[in-house]
Amino acid sequence: MEEKKLITGGEFLVKETSPDDIFIPEELDEEQRMIGESCKDFLETEVFPVVDRIDAQEEGLMRSLLEKSGELGLLGITIPEEYDGFGQNFITAMYSSEVLGAGYSYAVAYSCHTGIGTLPILYYGNEEQRAKYVSKLATGELIGAYCLTEPGAGSDANSGTTKAVLSEDGKHYIVNGAKMWITNAGFADVFTVFAKIDNDRVLSAFILERDYEGITFNPEEKKLGIKGSSTRQVFFNDVKVPVENMLGKRGEGFRIALNILHMGRIKLGANVIGSAKKAIDQSVQYANERKQFNCLISQFGAIKHKLAEQVIQTFATECSVYRASKALDNAITHSVANGDDKGRDTMEAFNQFAVEAAAMKVFGSEALDYVVDEGVQIHGGMGYSAEMFIDKGYRDSRINRIFEGTNEINRLLLVDSVLKKGAKKVLPVMELAEKAFEEVKAMNGIPAPAEGWIEEKDQYVANQKKVVLMLLKAASEKFNRTLVTEQEILSNISDCIIQVYVAESVVLRLKKMEAMKGEEACKIYRDMADVFVYDAAARIAKFARDATYSFAYGEVRDLLEKGINNFTWVAGVNVKEARRRIADQLIDENKYCF
Ligand SMILES: Cc1cc2nc3c(=O)[nH]c(=O)nc-3n(C[C@H](O)[C@H](O)[C@H](O)COP(=O)(O)OP(=O)(O)OC[C@H]3O[C@@H](n4cnc5c(N)ncnc54)[C@H](O)[C@@H]3O)c2cc1C
Repeated sequence: MEEKKLITGGEFLVKETSPDDIFIPEELDEEQRMIGESCKDFLETEVFPVVDRIDAQEEGLMRSLLEKSGELGLLGITIPEEYDGFGQNFITAMYSSEVLGAGYSYAVAYSCHTGIGTLPILYYGNEEQRAKYVSKLATGELIGAYCLTEPGAGSDANSGTTKAVLSEDGKHYIVNGAKMWITNAGFADVFTVFAKIDNDRVLSAFILERDYEGITFNPEEKKLGIKGSSTRQVFFNDVKVPVENMLGKRGEGFRIALNILHMGRIKLGANVIGSAKKAIDQSVQYANERKQFNCLISQFGAIKHKLAEQVIQTFATECSVYRASKALDNAITHSVANGDDKGRDTMEAFNQFAVEAAAMKVFGSEALDYVVDEGVQIHGGMGYSAEMFIDKGYRDSRINRIFEGTNEINRLLLVDSVLKKGAKKVLPVMELAEKAFEEVKAMNGIPAPAEGWIEEKDQYVANQKKVVLMLLKAASEKFNRTLVTEQEILSNISDCIIQVYVAESVVLRLKKMEAMKGEEACKIYRDMADVFVYDAAARIAKFARDATYSFAYGEVRDLLEKGINNFTWVAGVNVKEARRRIADQLIDENKYCF
């Protein structure tokens, strides 16, 4: 049998994806669902009843919750069995991150520990380092943290000044410096610390243990949200770190940091789905109880609009996150099978999907912000009260646009990654853009819509990609090397790319669902896709126009404008009725049921 070609990162822009190549939550198997149930039970029995105590940072509580999670196996879901984990695949990791994502500050502590706190050692550690730390991290005997950010080095993480100097006897690195905003710092045992050796221009990575002499901590930061999550500054004052605790090679730290962040970003996309579903449950349950003008507020059209849009944004995030997870899972399997270093090969797969990871981080965090913001609004004055949990969701959501790389940085990184793949001919960006320009030149008005609901959606998405490609080519040719300084334009293009990816993911899920369950059973999902694709087209047109009028003149501008008009056109949708149908189903079920 001919080997199926793997999807590569960013490829969605230049190729059609088959529904066979994506994963949808309807395909979760029994084992995955059981793991999800265990995560849900844990939140319901151990976390939600003590949320106020967690937020008050009761001494020892978060640590004991992490330890309990470890005893139940929740910290080792994807850790290989040889290190006392369950060796599950990436999709399972994403599903458990989704379910646990509803757990407020606990979710942050959990994600930090299982992601940035554990994976640098699992993937970049040598045999001795893995043997010493990974099993204990998987069982919760040890808790991990990740120290990259410094007071003077945030987004520009490689500019950190924490230093490591080899001791005279060559047995230790002496580490000096300060790290800031370190999650789990209050109780973590093991810290992956990034520092520069001597006068190196790039970072190296080290494993530090809490009880090494010379490590001190500031008190807990007072924060806007995720108040129960431990966040502290960490100081290193002549800390003696055994030379065998260097992670990876000298100078490899920045690559380790970035690859771990790609993984963190896509997992953040999964986390926000859990938070969003919880906020939707709270919103609809309140709307189904609260009466005004002798009527349940859930019966008002304005409230139905909000409820439906909360659902659509969450559903769209879910479609995209699981699609990307499957592509990543395949890439990891392939990379590991063909390489000789399982850890590094896994992380290189994440690096390949930097575009999708950044897109999920940006789209997911902004979708959740929408969901919780409208959740507060649906609660009216009670939304502003600390009596209801929705205020916590609102405050906790905000961090997602800041950590794991701010959304500004992720937007820039996303488009930069596409441009680099284009320049290296990994993706035929310029060639297809040229074709799109030729097509526009020959066009006489808006293309006739394809026959059939699915075919029409496919056509819209394929056309929207042409707008993106045209913009990439026109902007690259206009600015050449100075394009990096045109951040507004790059961010516009990035937003177009994100919308295209998500819109296509929604359509792909529909195709797969309808093949599984039949069209009739998926009617409500067609409503979601109708609204999302219709809105995405308008958003893409706006971002593309903003970019076009910021740099293009003459014939190029005329062609871009014609391309935007023709390629972002979509047929009208009765969005009011579609949203009402979605809201009515949610209102009937009184919980997220899609
Ligand atoms: C609660 C919390 C937990 C955290 N946990 C950890 C952790 O466990 N480990 C860790 O290492 N770090 C952690 N961080 C740090 C986090 O990753 C950084 O805050 C984040 O990367 C942004 O850095 P900064 O705060 O220095 O902001 P800055 O980099 O100063 O950014 C300020 C603003 O400028 C923008 N900006 C910066 N550079 C550019 C640019 N080139 N182009 C355009 N805009 C730009 C940013 O997008 C932002 O809007 C955490 C932060 C918080 C708040």
